[in-house]
Amino acid sequence: MVDISALSPPLPGQICSISNDVFWCRMPLPLALDHINVYLVRDNGGWVIIDCGMATKATKAAWTTIIEQLDGPITRVIVTHMHPDHIGCAGYLTELFQVDLYMSQTEYYAARALIAGAQGADNWQDRQYYRQAGFNAEQVKLFTQGNSGLNKVVSPMPLSFHRLFPDTHLIIGEYRWKLLLGLGHSPEHISLYCEALNICIGGDQVLPKITPNIGAYSTQPHSNPLHYYFETLHTFAALPSSVLLLPSHKTPIYDIPSRVEEIRAHHYVHLNNLLQACEQPQTVVDLLPVLFHRELGQHELFFAVAECIAHLNYLIDKGQLEKTSDINQINQYRVKNSPLN
Ligand SMILES: [Zn+2]
Repeated sequence: MVDISALSPPLPGQICSISNDVFWCRMPLPLALDHINVYLVRDNGGWVIIDCGMATKATKAAWTTIIEQLDGPITRVIVTHMHPDHIGCAGYLTELFQVDLYMSQTEYYAARALIAGAQGADNWQDRQYYRQAGFNAEQVKLFTQGNSGLNKVVSPMPLSFHRLFPDTHLIIGEYRWKLLLGLGHSPEHISLYCEALNICIGGDQVLPKITPNIGAYSTQPHSNPLHYYFETLHTFAALPSSVLLLPSHKTPIYDIPSRVEEIRAHHYVHLNNLLQACEQPQTVVDLLPVLFHRELGQHELFFAVAECIAHLNYLIDKGQLEKTSDINQINQYRVKNSPLN
């Protein structure tokens, strides 16, 4: 068993050994969440990179320092999902080393689409999403200005990839890794679990201390990602508690099933608080303080709105809430069969 109390997070450019075959590195992020963990796994004759960091100068410099210390070449790059902190440097690294990118199909194409941006399409649906949530015209403008894609923080994607299929295995070096599907946080998130090493490289699906963002964004405002997140959490709840979780944020932990329980409980508290608040009709803007007990910056609001709508959509699908539109076409949420109806 790895003594996790003896591990301290590596600085950018440092490599921290988890086992003979698995190493932990950390990349800086220019966000409130200021880092992402990435991992190196020993492959035949070299090293696999799992997740890449954002395409910033600081991350590229950290990769250069790390790669100089390795005793073999980079053999391939695996990305758990398409969020910019994970996929940002994937194109940069695969091009630099002329190696293949491995990721799930939905994540690959979602990444290509997000990087491309709106391509001239009008964003009326984005404006509608924020207007219906209860934001005023000025705030709607702030949320929806510009959609030139994510190419400032994501390098151009490689034009071909290896598709990772959930519930199949990938051989890396001497070990078999099972590919675990995660839904809800991103479209087809892949975590890697090696029974022989007793290690799960979790991506963002299960995180210590913070909960993965589960959002219904303007691209799919009626979706129910929380339902699908819960559905795929079962897989992680069933892992032995002796498995070491190597997460994308914060530090490694044991006992994934207990962490899954905490995350589930967190969402149920949110759902119950929303139900209580919706005894009276409420807009998304009204409900944000129910879920978030602090002032939110513009960047945080983007995620908070989506998280709030995801929880509301979950309750609507369960038949516990209903959504109506007022005369200004702002959505009002209220408990179904409440005395007001
Ligand atoms: Zn993510």
